[in-house]
Amino acid sequence: MKDGLNSEKTRILELWQKLGFNHYLRSMESLLQKIEEFKQEIAATEANTAELVEAFRIKYLGTKGLVKSVMGEMKSVPNEHKKAFGQVLNDFKLFVESKFETLKENVVGGAEAIGNTIDLTLPGDPITVGTRHPLNIVRNQIVSIFQRLGFAVAEGPEIEDDWHNFGAMNLPEDHPARDMQDTFYINQDPAWLLRTHTSSVQARVMETQKPPIRVICPGRVYRNETISARAHCFFHQVEGLYIDENVSFADLKQTLYFFVQEMFGKDVKVRFRPSYFPFTEPSAEMDISCLICGGDGCNICKHTGWVEILGSGMVHPKVLDNFGIDSNKYTGFAFGMGVERITQLKYQVNDLRLYSQNDVRFLKQFTGVV
Ligand SMILES: [Zn+2]
Repeated sequence: MKDGLNSEKTRILELWQKLGFNHYLRSMESLLQKIEEFKQEIAATEANTAELVEAFRIKYLGTKGLVKSVMGEMKSVPNEHKKAFGQVLNDFKLFVESKFETLKENVVGGAEAIGNTIDLTLPGDPITVGTRHPLNIVRNQIVSIFQRLGFAVAEGPEIEDDWHNFGAMNLPEDHPARDMQDTFYINQDPAWLLRTHTSSVQARVMETQKPPIRVICPGRVYRNETISARAHCFFHQVEGLYIDENVSFADLKQTLYFFVQEMFGKDVKVRFRPSYFPFTEPSAEMDISCLICGGDGCNICKHTGWVEILGSGMVHPKVLDNFGIDSNKYTGFAFGMGVERITQLKYQVNDLRLYSQNDVRFLKQFTGVV
């Protein structure tokens, strides 16, 4: 190697001398001399830790290292000698890189020798995978079905004022739903309360958007009720609102029929019963054929063959007027369902309290359901 470099150096110097590049001669000669010294220094370098190997890399091969700076000398070499001088520089670079690889291998080899005490055949630590809460599973399914029909998701605050929760939804002052027994009031005058339904979100949507409006409002709601298997002080709703020109009760029926078929299967039948809600006129409650007995009658359906799943109706013109929506031009339908109720029917959960008790024996039954 040394002989090769020296003969190359001599050849270049002779060439330059012949061509009269005397002004390069001195500097080039001293550079070749320096490269030779660097090679001796590098050959003698030892590094027995990863830190020292890295220090070597930075000093010689880094972006501000020696190899880069020596390579930079190429620009001052005349074109006709670039090839020969480039060869010398390239050999130098390969020499440094080869030394670096050797140093690195020595250090890594040492580390591997220590690592041999680990038994790779031992089983790994088990990873505990959680499950989605059944209410979230069912809420996501409901949202996904309505999203396919073009409904957007709207959300709003759980602490509401009297107007958005009651007044705007055509709930008169003396309506039973305003009874202190049913509602958690935070403040009386002005009234602040925990929303009793997600209709308050519908109110906020109508306040800020113009028809056509097509939204579903999933969320938690609160009622001041004694906790039992059939009632809880908080539960979850998904309400829907569709307002446009020429929206009819037929649209309402078909939309909800599509929903139950997607949710419970193609064989399920529906029926509508007249009902009363202050914010819809006409109003109807919707039943589906019992999923357990297929309509023959069982304990779940109280031997009627039908189970109630949601309330619905055409939006009351007074509600539209409350938000400046022309009730002569626009009509709409609204519906609301309890997520707990749908979950109960889908997974046969018969005690509302199970949803909030955090009992892993209950929650683990939903492993793998997404
Ligand atoms: Zn039944």
